[in-house]
Amino acid sequence: MRKGLWLVSAVLIFTMVFLAGCGKGTVKTTEKNQEQQNSNSALTVKVLDIGQGDAILIRVAGQTVLVDTGDIDTRDKMVAYIKKEGITTIDKVIITHPHADHLGGMIGILENFKVRQIYDSGQTGTTALYRQYLSLVNKKNIPFTVVTAGTEIVISNDIKMKFFAPEKPYLTASELNNNSVVAKLIYNKFSMLLTGDAEKESEGRMLKTYAGELKSTVLKSGHHGSNTSSTSEFLKAVGAEAVIISLGANNDYHHPHPSTLKKYEQAKLKVYRTDQDGTVSITSDGSTYQITKEK
Ligand SMILES: [Zn+2]
Repeated sequence: MRKGLWLVSAVLIFTMVFLAGCGKGTVKTTEKNQEQQNSNSALTVKVLDIGQGDAILIRVAGQTVLVDTGDIDTRDKMVAYIKKEGITTIDKVIITHPHADHLGGMIGILENFKVRQIYDSGQTGTTALYRQYLSLVNKKNIPFTVVTAGTEIVISNDIKMKFFAPEKPYLTASELNNNSVVAKLIYNKFSMLLTGDAEKESEGRMLKTYAGELKSTVLKSGHHGSNTSSTSEFLKAVGAEAVIISLGANNDYHHPHPSTLKKYEQAKLKVYRTDQDGTVSITSDGSTYQITKEK
């Protein structure tokens, strides 16, 4: 009798736990799907393998944002990559500064995609490339906004970009790099700091003005891993878990600098680099994130 009762109870408890488990699982999955729909699905950031330069493709909430456009000689490669993604319209293009390794692909972007809005640092260049860029933007009548520190771009309810540089008046000590646009892409708990070619001077200024806001999950290495950027103080304030260096293999500048790599190691950053890993993709649902390498 006792034995029988125990058996019945055990079967009953097992069945209840099993059913409860199944039910819970199903509800959880449904909730997750709804949450994903509400927050307009996942964020994807691709640091494109376009040789020595920067081109970062962000897709989220039905919008496409391109931060920098690589150099002139990799223009066709970048355009082909973006086309392959099925993109025909780029909602926002941000040019961090008018050096060729950031602005070089812009003509290809303007000629091949509908661009809704352009943001740049407001610094002017003296190159033919820069003049061609401006005249094409004027010709196509694309809205153009100069970004300064403190600006925010709202992408959706829970996704925005906050700008920490350039701060006015511009830093003049080492020309265009130090007045690069620096933006933090924020999606709930996940964030990524996009630094252009900002160097020590700009990092120092951001530490003074935005010390409490620099903290980011992932860092785009400043100035292709050069030793002119990534001070220990700056890395500490950002407190990232991973850093992505955008650079070309065997580049003329010998980027990344060994001392910078050493600092990344000391800061316990997981290092990704486009010259070895190919395009580096980061996906996030606003809480967790994943980084994948092409190679
Ligand atoms: Zn650069």
